[in-house]
Amino acid sequence: MKLLMVASEATPFAKTGGLADVVGSLPPALCSLGHDVRLVMPWYRQVRTITGELPLSLNKLSVSMGGRSYKIGYRRGEFQGVQVYFLDYPEYYDRDGLYGERGQDYTDNAERFGLLSSAAIELTRHLAFVPDVIHAHDWQTGLVPLYLHQQLWRDPYFAGTASLFSIHNLGYQGVFPLQAAKSLEIDSSLLTSDGIEYHGKLSLLKAGLRYASQINTVSPTYCREIQTPEQGMGLDGLLRSRADDLHGLLNGLDGKLWSPAQDHTLPQAYSAEDLSGKAVCKQMLQEELGLHPAPDRAIVAMVTRLDSQKGIELVLGSWEKILSRNLQLVILGTGNPDYERRLAEAADFYPGRARVLLRFDDAQSRRIYAGSDLFLMPSRYEPCGLGQLIALRYGCIPLVHATGGLADTIIDPRIAPEAANGFVFEKYRNASLLQGLDRALEAYSEPPLWQKIRHRGMTQDMSWHQAAEQYLDLYRLCKKGLQ
Ligand code: ADP
Repeated sequence: MKLLMVASEATPFAKTGGLADVVGSLPPALCSLGHDVRLVMPWYRQVRTITGELPLSLNKLSVSMGGRSYKIGYRRGEFQGVQVYFLDYPEYYDRDGLYGERGQDYTDNAERFGLLSSAAIELTRHLAFVPDVIHAHDWQTGLVPLYLHQQLWRDPYFAGTASLFSIHNLGYQGVFPLQAAKSLEIDSSLLTSDGIEYHGKLSLLKAGLRYASQINTVSPTYCREIQTPEQGMGLDGLLRSRADDLHGLLNGLDGKLWSPAQDHTLPQAYSAEDLSGKAVCKQMLQEELGLHPAPDRAIVAMVTRLDSQKGIELVLGSWEKILSRNLQLVILGTGNPDYERRLAEAADFYPGRARVLLRFDDAQSRRIYAGSDLFLMPSRYEPCGLGQLIALRYGCIPLVHATGGLADTIIDPRIAPEAANGFVFEKYRNASLLQGLDRALEAYSEPPLWQKIRHRGMTQDMSWHQAAEQYLDLYRLCKKGLQ
């Protein structure tokens, strides 16, 4: 199959969260199954630091959008068999952030990502590459299905091209004032609630949901949850109306990218068979972060965006009680400035026992996954979650709230003792979190039980191979809809 991925972030080039992990892993997995996969994303300032200087195309793409004509260069790279095209438009992408800076979104994000969507489609023409399916991800590329459906359906070039839209997080809807429709070349007839209007504004995510041939999200449970009024974030009606085209496919984890046996950022490598290196990682982490040297005390870790989605309120609300247990607490995260301040202040009361690091730091995150014992993910909602999958791989046992992909990937000993790989608490409440924590710490004090749970998590198959096969079925379904 010929597949075009369009996304606003992908590892290893630019990342703010799990979306990047997925878009960095799924295309290579599809390539390894023999498909022609190309990826289009912006040439952000930070991409250059990963790829080095890539030559700029001689020809530029001409895109006209909202009465403005754009001339866009592109740069080509290759990543694990995938041709990657970086759109070079400095006025929009040569900035410090991907979506904003210092907690503020850029004010021209509608145009920045509208241009990504429009230029990606134009690029296929320029390359004479006719995709079977264009796979768009999250609100940033929600206009891809709309442009294909509304503007290009008469164009024979795209007669055989379908679209798949993936929801990685329904909480981010790309909502802009209705006036933005003009600069995005969106016909005013679409600005109704049956179109892409959303509470008096326009939503780019809604455009993807309404016009894609098929839709998927990243776990079966989240797929069910988003069709309910409680978790549908105002879009559950639309999602229910498309229930036949809506699928829940669990993410995989790139086993090469996330492997404690091959991770050069760790003080010492280790594997499920030989965990001696993990003890060294723990000791070094305690030393590095100024925690008391205590090999037997459990280190509980979080690596997370600091957003209300991630259950930060629960952690702050239970802070003293969590730290009254025999444990050390490490949090690496960035995001909401209020959470940043409150967490940093709370940690200051527990020198040597709690440490909060307010930055985005991939190498540091790896040292934390490796050096910690328990990975806390108390998300209010979680489409799939990659943190808990990485933690499993690194032998850091997850403790999670039973929601979305966390409920689909973590099995509690109370549910299935012979399959358990972590701990799950049912209610989004402080008391429930603390009960889960106590059960986990009890298991930690029983080394044979702990080792069994940890070994199971470290050795379970989470590869992208299976997910890639499921995506291929979905692409075929998209194509079938064209007939
Ligand atoms: P989301 O995509 O909602 O942020 P996921 O759990 O799906 O959450 O993915 C988060 C990814 O981002 C993981 O790979 C995690 O390790 C990484 N991450 C989150 N915060 C940080 C941080 N401050 N530093 C380094 N990596 C981080």
